[in-house]
Order: sequence, then C-alpha cells, then structure tokens
Amino acid sequence: MKKVRRNRQHAKFARLRRHLEITADLLRPRRIRTRSARYAAALAEQLGLIQRPGCCSWCRRRRRLERHHWDYQEPLNVTFLCGDCHDIADSMNNQAITA
Ligand SMILES: [Zn+2]
Repeated sequence: MKKVRRNRQHAKFARLRRHLEITADLLRPRRIRTRSARYAAALAEQLGLIQRPGCCSWCRRRRRLERHHWDYQEPLNVTFLCGDCHDIADSMNNQAITA
C-alpha cells in the first residue's frame, strides 16, 4: 500500500473514532449524535468494516440502498435497505418509541 493511501486510511479511522465518541456522548444534543452516527457508518463502510450487500437485505431487490440505523447508540449496527423497506423500518422504530 502506498504511503499516501495509508495516511488517508489512517485519517478516516481517526474521524471514525471521533464520530463514535460524539455518538456516545449523551451530553450532546440528539441531532448532533444522530448525525455523527450516520457519519461513522459511512466511514466504516468506506473502510470496509461494514459490507454493503448487492441488494436490499429485506426484499432482495437490486435498488439504491440506504443505511438504516436501528439505534443511534449503536452507530455501526446498520441494515442496508431500499427506500421502500427503509420506510417500513422507520415506522417500526417510531412504534417502538411510542409504544
Ligand atoms: Zn427492500
């Protein structure tokens, strides 16, 4: 691996750690924590820690996939879903909160 590439990789890990820290910091506003959870998942995917499947994890359609967070306290626990399934998953989350 070339030096430049390795440094870039290292910088991404540093940003990932930073965003994971922000996500876990309950003193911060929720919108900041959820934003960092999304950044952390995106970085983890770029670094190969999270694998994006070729199709939606639920309906198996080959469409543009979105990362669904079940719990922003677990920023790297995501499911890759198409837009339709993501809507269903979000409504499940909302029910869990209001139940
Ligand atoms: Zn789907």
